[in-house]
Amino acid sequence: MSFSTLADAYQSFDFSACFHSVHASEVRNVLDRAGSQAPLDTRDLLTLLSPAAQDFLEPMAQIAKNLTCQHFGKTISLYAPMYISDFCCNHCTYCGFNANTRFPRTRLTLEQIDREARAIADTGIRHILILTGEAPKKTPLSYLEDMCRIMTRYFSSIALEIYPMTETEYRGLKQAGADSLTVYQEVYDKSIYKAVHPKGPKSDYTFRLLTPERGAAAGFRAVNIGPLFGLGDPASEAFMAGLHARYLEQTYPHVEISLSLPRMTRAGGAISPRHLLSDRQFVQTLLAWRLFMPRLGITLSTRESAAFRDQLIHLGVTRYSAGSRTDVGGYHVHTTGTTVQFEVTDTRSVNEVAAMIRHSGYQPVFKDWEIF
Ligand code: SF4
Repeated sequence: MSFSTLADAYQSFDFSACFHSVHASEVRNVLDRAGSQAPLDTRDLLTLLSPAAQDFLEPMAQIAKNLTCQHFGKTISLYAPMYISDFCCNHCTYCGFNANTRFPRTRLTLEQIDREARAIADTGIRHILILTGEAPKKTPLSYLEDMCRIMTRYFSSIALEIYPMTETEYRGLKQAGADSLTVYQEVYDKSIYKAVHPKGPKSDYTFRLLTPERGAAAGFRAVNIGPLFGLGDPASEAFMAGLHARYLEQTYPHVEISLSLPRMTRAGGAISPRHLLSDRQFVQTLLAWRLFMPRLGITLSTRESAAFRDQLIHLGVTRYSAGSRTDVGGYHVHTTGTTVQFEVTDTRSVNEVAAMIRHSGYQPVFKDWEIF
């Protein structure tokens, strides 16, 4: 059974009624079991994401902190995103790179990729996340394989956040040096997914939903997934993402599974968030995920403010982006005037983020994995 069958079973589930039926006593019961390291089930995740659990954020935070220290130590891995192309044939209504937005598009040459990579590596970062829009004619498999081979000169971990591919294509990228895959479902609610992906290959809900499975089957070491908070109801989307992560962890036990909590930020030509995820709900989601899956990687991007990121360091996050640019060639090739996919809120340098991590009593990790 693929995750598609499981996800379909929840499309008609009454999340609102379920969340509002949870009582404080049930939350206490779940916290008792989480604190004694008993495994939690999907009903427990619903309980932790309910409005009733919002009164228990302090005890949830304490358990989350303990679980995270136990499984990850007091470490935070650092990575940088690198955009190599903003060509895209999709019409995602929430993205500044969508095919309807008019701006001069860029695809880096292999020489420019090398220069960008060197500029990022000079900051000390050894984990890179490569991003493209979806334009297979502009960024075909061969170009991406060449890019990966360049990246292996500078980085010990190469993650891909590119358009969904087949398992065979992923095997080629793995062979060229990539070791992990990020793919956000964006929104698990099928009707909203259809509305915000009106045209282009990304409008195929199921093909996208099964992409993490194809990546895991192709042999990637790590797979990172997540909803884009702002599109669907935050609590039910957080539940579906947790369900998806649990499914992947159980189906591919050799793969390191992570979740991200991207919140929509402003971008040129894009819609505003339909459902705001408050800071409080953000923290609740992070804690609920940690209690539900103690070994889960949790990634936090520079979409969030510096002050907010500093507070979250004790609550279960395991990976931070740092010194991020979200425009193509933003580190070295171009410096101003290009279109960004989303606005960066934490604009601190890699050194500043690393100093904050040390100041918080944690160790910043620039490299915790070697491909070869
Ligand atoms: S979210 Fe990705 S696929 Fe959608 S328009 Fe933006 S770059 Fe293209």
